[in-house]
Amino acid sequence: MTTQFDSVRENNGEYLWQPMTHPAESRRNPPKVIVGGEGVEIIDIDGRRILDALAGGLWNVNLGYSCEPIKRAIANQLDELPYHSAFRGTVSASTVELSHEIIEWTKPEGMARAFFTSGGSDSVETALRLARQYHKVRGDSSRTKFISLKGSYHGTHFGGASVTGNARFRTPYEPLLAGCFHVAGPNTYRNEFDESDPAVLADRCISALEAEIAMQGAGTVAAFIMEPIQGAGGVYVPHESYMGRVREVCDRNGVLLIADEVITGFGRSGSWFGSRLWGVKPDMMCLAKAITNGYFPFGACLVSEGMAEVFEASEGSTAYIAHGYTYSGHPVGAAAALATLAETKRLGVNDNASARGSQLHDGLLGLQAKFDIVGDVRGGQGLAHAIELVSDRAAKTALAGDVVARIHDAIYEAGVSVRVSGNKIILSPALILEPAHIEQIVDALAAGLSTAS
Ligand code: PMP
Repeated sequence: MTTQFDSVRENNGEYLWQPMTHPAESRRNPPKVIVGGEGVEIIDIDGRRILDALAGGLWNVNLGYSCEPIKRAIANQLDELPYHSAFRGTVSASTVELSHEIIEWTKPEGMARAFFTSGGSDSVETALRLARQYHKVRGDSSRTKFISLKGSYHGTHFGGASVTGNARFRTPYEPLLAGCFHVAGPNTYRNEFDESDPAVLADRCISALEAEIAMQGAGTVAAFIMEPIQGAGGVYVPHESYMGRVREVCDRNGVLLIADEVITGFGRSGSWFGSRLWGVKPDMMCLAKAITNGYFPFGACLVSEGMAEVFEASEGSTAYIAHGYTYSGHPVGAAAALATLAETKRLGVNDNASARGSQLHDGLLGLQAKFDIVGDVRGGQGLAHAIELVSDRAAKTALAGDVVARIHDAIYEAGVSVRVSGNKIILSPALILEPAHIEQIVDALAAGLSTAS
């Protein structure tokens, strides 16, 4: 093993720019090289087995690293038809099959058509573009603006970054798309209303959304986009009334509702979809990540029956979908997704996400009782959690970066990989975790937190 990886060790950090990484930092502290994955564990270049509390690092390897039916489906599809475009005129069989499967599954959300992409950012870009086009097809071309939530994350294309509500992902790339506006999100720990009651905060946020639409002029707003549970921004579970009321506001104002389910899709929230969790029928759903268990880059933008009717009833050239990716509906991705969806359903991972999510939440609350630096524990709705580390609980002062880094390293040393984002520790493990794995995660976090003082 050592000889085989010698050049990798030597080159590590030299020739690679990593996503979401400072290049200088990466040269000083080269990344840990991961060389294997088995079950819910990763194996690093030093041969250490680490429990992956992030499902692949990015909330996507929901069924773990050893899902044989998906691997076989990919291999078989590579043998049969490794690639063919899905642009006008031809399409692969697996792509057709997947569109049927996914629309059947999202019938309760009112979805009617699937447009396939290569990932989450592509799915969001597709939704934003189709939203504008929908209004044009209807003859309402003044509806072009987008509204979204502060603290949200919607990917890195210019459109997605423009609706993302976090300066970190926006500032280096500004100016972004004109006509994008942000309103307060239902984040009880930190919000501009200084309101910690989730129901009251939901009221305030709904009023803020209505006020923003009125200020912009409802006739100029194309769509509102939201994550049913804000994920990458720090796991904010809204009050149960929130998304349904957003739906009502959108309906009253002729604004489309886009559910960015890139994280919440396929069981992570304990429900199959975040929209289903809140009982909402959006106009579009953005999917990616767990759609192929992370084994193949793939995504989808689903559109509702109502939107589909408008496009399909129009003979005008405005309804021509002048949008698509070389890898839209990739046959291997579609085959991977078909196998993933079958396994996801067969294993009923949403129920396990719910049960293990509650267990993890209790464990984290236990840590909060023990460690003063745990300012906030978020999650409790499936397997998506964050803890926010502070040096002063009352003032909510973020814990210093070097202390957070020390904690992060100690957690890894204790055998668990977690993600650190600013002063937050984010947990998004595979949905097939067993109770003992949760105990292992909580123990490793305790070991890490105890290094702070
Ligand atoms: N939307 C949401 C809600 C996401 O969490 C992400 C990725 N974390 C994206 C969009 C972008 O997806 P991708 O990284 O696959 O482009």
